[in-house]
Amino acid sequence: MVLTQLPRFQYLVFRKPPPSFNLFPKPKLPNKFTSPKLFSAPKSTLSTTEPIPITHISLPEEEPRLEISLDKLFVPPETEVSCDDPNLSTRILKGSNIVLSKYARDAQVVQAEFVKSSVRTEDCPSDGLPEFALVGRSNVGKSSLLNSLVRRKRLALTSKKPGKTQCINHFRINDKWYLVDLPGYGYAAAPQELRTDWSKFTKDYFLNRSTLVSVFLLIDASIPAKPIDLEYASWLGQNQIPMTLVFTKCDKRKKKKNGGKRPEENVRDFQELIRGFFQTAPPWIMTSSVTNQGRDEILLHMAQLRNYWLKH
Ligand code: GDP
Repeated sequence: MVLTQLPRFQYLVFRKPPPSFNLFPKPKLPNKFTSPKLFSAPKSTLSTTEPIPITHISLPEEEPRLEISLDKLFVPPETEVSCDDPNLSTRILKGSNIVLSKYARDAQVVQAEFVKSSVRTEDCPSDGLPEFALVGRSNVGKSSLLNSLVRRKRLALTSKKPGKTQCINHFRINDKWYLVDLPGYGYAAAPQELRTDWSKFTKDYFLNRSTLVSVFLLIDASIPAKPIDLEYASWLGQNQIPMTLVFTKCDKRKKKKNGGKRPEENVRDFQELIRGFFQTAPPWIMTSSVTNQGRDEILLHMAQLRNYWLKH
C-alpha cells in the first residue's frame, strides 16, 4: 500500500487543538526549560546504528536551538506523541521536526550502485523495491547530498554525465531500496522545450510511480525562498505526494550585509510560506554536505518511511 493512502500524521494526544508557539523564537528567548510544550532539535550527533538514543548535547554557541511546537511535528503513522512525555524531545531527530517511530531501523548504507537512467516512468526498474526521489533547483546541492548519504565522493557524478542530466537516475542501496536522482529544475539556461519536457516527465513520475515512498525536495537554506521552490512544494502538496523538505547548505551561516538571513530564518520563512498548501506540517530536516549535518537523520527518516511502507 502506498503511503499516500495512509494517514501520514497522527496526533493521538490532543482532544483540542494544540497551543501554538513560534517555531523559531528569537535567539535568547526561551530555551527548552521555559516551556514544557516546546521541543528542542539540536545539532546532530546521531549515528545510523540502532536503537536510537537521542540525547541532548551542548551546542556550540553559534548553533541555534530549534524549538518546535507539537502541532508542527511530523509524527509517523503508528506513533504516539504526548505533550506530557518527558522524553519526547529525545525522540525528535536533531535539526528536524521528525519524530522517530518503531520503524526506524536498518538505516545504514552498506552498498550503493548506479543501476540505470530512464526517460519515462515505465522504463524505471520494475523490481518493486521502495524508493525516494531527490529533487531540487540546479545547484541546490543535490549531488553533494547524494554522495554524502552513500559516503561516496563521486557516485552522483553519474547523473551529471551529458545525456543523463535529464533522466530519472536510479541508485540501488543495500540491494533493498533506491535513491532516485531527478533532474534539477529552474536552470535558466535550459531551453524552454527541455524545461517543459522535464516538468511533464517528472510530474508523471511523481503521480504514477507506485514504489515512490516519498519525494525529498531540496531547498537551499542559505538564501531566501525562491518562487520556483514554493511552486514545487505547493504542487506536491496539492497532489498529495508525500514530501520531505531537505534544507541544504545549513553550514553557510554568514549573514550577508544586504539583509541576508541565517539558515534557520530561511527555514522558518519557508515553512510559513508553504503552510497553506498542507493540512499538516510536512517533515523537514536541516543538512549540510560540508559538515554532514543531517545525513544520519535523513537515513533514519528514510528507514522509518520505508519499513512502514514495506509492512503495509
Ligand atoms: P546540484 O547541482 O544540485 O547537484 O549541486 P552540487 O551538489 O553540484 O552543488 C552545487 C554547489 O554548492 C557546489 O559548489 C557545492 O560545493 C556547493 N554545495 C553543495 N552542498 C553544500 C553544502 O552543504 N554546503 C556548502 N557550503 N556548499 C555546498
